[in-house]
Amino acid sequence: MKTTFEINPIKEWLPNLNNPLLISGPCSLETEQQTLETARLLAKDPRVFVYRGGIWKPRTRPGSFEGVGSIGLKWLQMVKKETGLPVGTEVANAHHTEEALKADLDVLWIGARSTASPFVVQEIADVLKGSNKPVLIKNPVNPDVQLWMGAIERVYQAGIKSIVAIHRGFTPFRETKYRNYPNWKTVIELRRLLPNLPIICDPSHIAGKREYLFEIAQKSFDMGMDGLMLESHIDPSCALSDASQQLTPADLGKLLDRLVIRHQDANNPDFENRLDMLRSRIDTLDAELLEMLSSRVAIVKQIGQYKKHNNVTALQINRWSQLMDNRVKLGKKLDLNESLVKTLFQLIHEDSVRLQTDIMDTE
Ligand code: PEP
Ligand code: MN
Repeated sequence: MKTTFEINPIKEWLPNLNNPLLISGPCSLETEQQTLETARLLAKDPRVFVYRGGIWKPRTRPGSFEGVGSIGLKWLQMVKKETGLPVGTEVANAHHTEEALKADLDVLWIGARSTASPFVVQEIADVLKGSNKPVLIKNPVNPDVQLWMGAIERVYQAGIKSIVAIHRGFTPFRETKYRNYPNWKTVIELRRLLPNLPIICDPSHIAGKREYLFEIAQKSFDMGMDGLMLESHIDPSCALSDASQQLTPADLGKLLDRLVIRHQDANNPDFENRLDMLRSRIDTLDAELLEMLSSRVAIVKQIGQYKKHNNVTALQINRWSQLMDNRVKLGKKLDLNESLVKTLFQLIHEDSVRLQTDIMDTE
């Protein structure tokens, strides 16, 4: 898949785009008036490129507002006609997809709960066949890069080449300040696996609260994301869904003003030279680290033989606790992050025990 995956750059379907892709609009369309008033304000900001609005809402518990349904398609068409903004909504089954294609929306997106279900994604992909419609695919609620890739592949195999991934965070497994934890390593892994796939960030669903939107949006540009999806509403505190994370169009503009947009390259030879020099020092240090690890492994093996001849266990818990305490203290003195030192030595120790038990179990 890696070699044959040919994704269209965003500019292919949004030729006027010369900034990061910014998609904004309400979490849910509620009334024709709210849809149009929000859109009119957003359309005044040239940084907003696509208007979003949920009309079929996947709610965690039944009984909350589940969206206005198909009538919202008409409102989205009105937005497009009046403002010229391309419009999009979330589709979560074959019926939604048929309706959205019939209404000729410009983009569709697959939500996080749907991406987690291969049956749902396949059902949507089957309807998309032959449509050529740009599709945005949110990460699944759990940080499983294979599941995310699987959804992308299903849509790609339906002949869709205009695909964008959306990072919207993952269900937290413990208390966090964010509604969904960002877990950037899953996003970095997707980028490594599919380097040509544009990825944008959805700070609204990561943050859950307006006050955290800026830090996540900035972080996503620091991480080289290709754009943002940010929810906005003319009167956020009265929104029927996700009230605490939406921004007024005016506040969205203020947030965008503060963001520093970063690029993959600086196009500045001095910067490139200095970066190359520093990177070659990193390369040398990494080689030294690996050589030291290799010397360490040689001693670990010697100890393994020695323990074997004396019938002593590979795992010696007291030594392990002392070693960890000592390394953490040493790391602190050297100003190293405690969790880095702990994770590193856990891995090193795990490998040492494996090497020694292998020695004991051979012959
Ligand atoms: C949304 O974008 O409004 C939405 C429901 O998002 P998610 O699928 O990320 O929860
Ligand atoms: Mn929402």
